[in-house]
Amino acid sequence: MFLPPLSTKNMESNDLRYIKGIGPVRASSLKRIGLTTPEQLLLFFPKWHVHKAAITPIALAKNGEKTFIKGFISEVEELRRPGRSILKVIVDDNSGATLTWTWFNRPYMREILKAGRQVVIHDAVESTRWGLQINGTAGTYEFISPEEDAALERGEILGFYKSTKILTQEFFREIIRQLINTKLTLIVEMLSPDITMRHDLYRIREALIKFHFPENTAELEKARRRLVFDELFMLQLFLARRKLFLAKKIKTRSYKEESSSALELEKKLPFELTGAQKRSIAEINADLMRKAPMNRLLQGDVGSGKTIVALMAMLKVIDSGYQAAIMAPTEILAEQHYRNYGKYFEQIGGGKKAVLLTGSLTAKEKREALAAVKSGEASLVVGTHALIQDAVEFKELGMIVIDERHKFGVFQRLTLESKGVFPDCLMMTATPFPRALVLTLYGDTELSVIDELPKGRLPIYTKWTQEKRRQDVYEFIRNKVAAGEQAFIVYPLVEESEKLMLKAAETDYVYLKNEVFKGRNVGLIHGRMSGEEKESAMRDFKEKKIDILVATTVIEVGIDVSNATVMVIEHTERFGLAQLHQLRGRVGRGAKKSFCFLLTSWNVTSDAFKRLKIMEKTNDGFEVAEADLEIRGPGELFGASQHGELDLKYMDLSRDREILISARQEAFRIIDADPKLASEENKKIRSFFDERFSKDMELITVS
Ligand code: ADP
Ligand code: MG
Repeated sequence: MFLPPLSTKNMESNDLRYIKGIGPVRASSLKRIGLTTPEQLLLFFPKWHVHKAAITPIALAKNGEKTFIKGFISEVEELRRPGRSILKVIVDDNSGATLTWTWFNRPYMREILKAGRQVVIHDAVESTRWGLQINGTAGTYEFISPEEDAALERGEILGFYKSTKILTQEFFREIIRQLINTKLTLIVEMLSPDITMRHDLYRIREALIKFHFPENTAELEKARRRLVFDELFMLQLFLARRKLFLAKKIKTRSYKEESSSALELEKKLPFELTGAQKRSIAEINADLMRKAPMNRLLQGDVGSGKTIVALMAMLKVIDSGYQAAIMAPTEILAEQHYRNYGKYFEQIGGGKKAVLLTGSLTAKEKREALAAVKSGEASLVVGTHALIQDAVEFKELGMIVIDERHKFGVFQRLTLESKGVFPDCLMMTATPFPRALVLTLYGDTELSVIDELPKGRLPIYTKWTQEKRRQDVYEFIRNKVAAGEQAFIVYPLVEESEKLMLKAAETDYVYLKNEVFKGRNVGLIHGRMSGEEKESAMRDFKEKKIDILVATTVIEVGIDVSNATVMVIEHTERFGLAQLHQLRGRVGRGAKKSFCFLLTSWNVTSDAFKRLKIMEKTNDGFEVAEADLEIRGPGELFGASQHGELDLKYMDLSRDREILISARQEAFRIIDADPKLASEENKKIRSFFDERFSKDMELITVS
């Protein structure tokens, strides 16, 4: 939510300390969570809305389903293992089934988890051999009072705030009610009545009241829609202004018509570029020759060969005397690009130099790399987020490439861009967004699509395999390894259970290495390893010093080892379709037939079942994405990071596509008519905009 700018100085009457019911102690607690004014407190919205229809009786809860459970603690059992503490808390809701709420290594929770207490838990339920269970995690539960319980039973909707010991739910509800009565006029409406009427939106003050205290779900939804509209409207205003601004830009560089290095490289490639690759290269080259900076998204399924397309374009820029930079989301991927591009550079000669910039360089390496970037000695800079740090200065940056675009934020991209003077920008992604959505979220981006896989690729044989056939899978791997091929065994790292899973991967690794694949080289790679360890594991795998790589999802994006032909995915039911498709794309990159085994326990949810079936049925990323849309709606196509980055707290793309379109239309209409938002009517929008984007606008307009 965007805070309205303060129109008056923060008068004493608005100091939280002096507001009835707050006082100095709570005021300082509020300050700690960033709330210092009544406006901020009014706009501090519930993290959850709990009501009868949102609560699932334990007896009806399904595996994997994220829901609200409301019950009481009937039993607490403490299991002590050497070096470990496990609290088994039984939650009962009189629905005929109970739930085990398990707390690992939080012995102090013993004091809090008392039998008889009423609790609301908001998390995904897991169905295990012992019945339903949820892992205890901070922030996913709230104890409730008998009064709250009674209110919920009466069918009321209760907002739950991010509370602390001092700042309780009752405190928030009471103080916000009071502020609504006394200070609501502090909240400024930025939208004209025209707009809210046209789109059937609440005025802001009404939306605020209803989002805190909805009488029914219809009001709650209408209030949410208004908040969503505001978020998207702001974002679209930003894109509209950016578009207008960029359209007027003229870059001062000019590139050579032909790049001799690119021509030479094409001749030396061990394969022929596909038609789709050639077309994309031509489209990019045409952009590069234009006066306005390039802004293009290159979309192509996993394995379609985007990396080489990017290099061809960067060579044109480099041949013309400018630098190019490519940013990848993981160190492993950055290192892989660095190695590959380095090899290509050797082949074409000409003494071109590439440098690597990641967070795990030593101080000395980093100094040298930075110096080479600054002096211009490095013509290609490959890196991770480390590329956008302040210390990185280019001599003359001509082009940036952002690999796996969907893993980055809009503003990370802008920061990299600001290191040059309107550099040409190519973004790459394997996530097949529907075109309309691309245009809506990325403003004025041009699109190239690689819709053709390199010749000779065989479809990856994909098989859903249940636990009991695990030994067959191991046997299969042993045979493939004996034939000189390599395998991945992948473990999911889902946030909440990350530590547990990491442990599973590590324990299994030891077992696989010493027993199952005894005599073979088994390696391990995961996100907690240092950059150096990861790189050496990847290098060993590439160089076939490792036959079987036990990995977490750190290998999800981009990793390219064409001799790897078998992938086993553990706990497949925990992965979403998009991620499974990305993971599977790590095999099937060469001419040999590849195999992907999707292991699950015997019991999976119906959604997981659908996902497994799709994976078995098709290798085509677009088909997978379409099925994904059907199963869970388009919302998550953009991934969580996308939402975080854009500060879209309330939007759910699966429901809010229409709001997105309305917000876009209104924003572009306003910016077209009044680019600077200078008119009397738009002044309020302008102050909201400045509050939200002043720094980001600087990024766009400074360079
Ligand atoms: P992605 O689009 O997923 O980033 P990569 O660029 O990593 O795919 O390419 C996957 C593999 O295919 C690499 O080993 C690359 O060398 C190879 N490759 C790229 N283009 C072709 C082609 N036209 N013919 C055969 N192999 C190709
Ligand atoms: Mg790639």
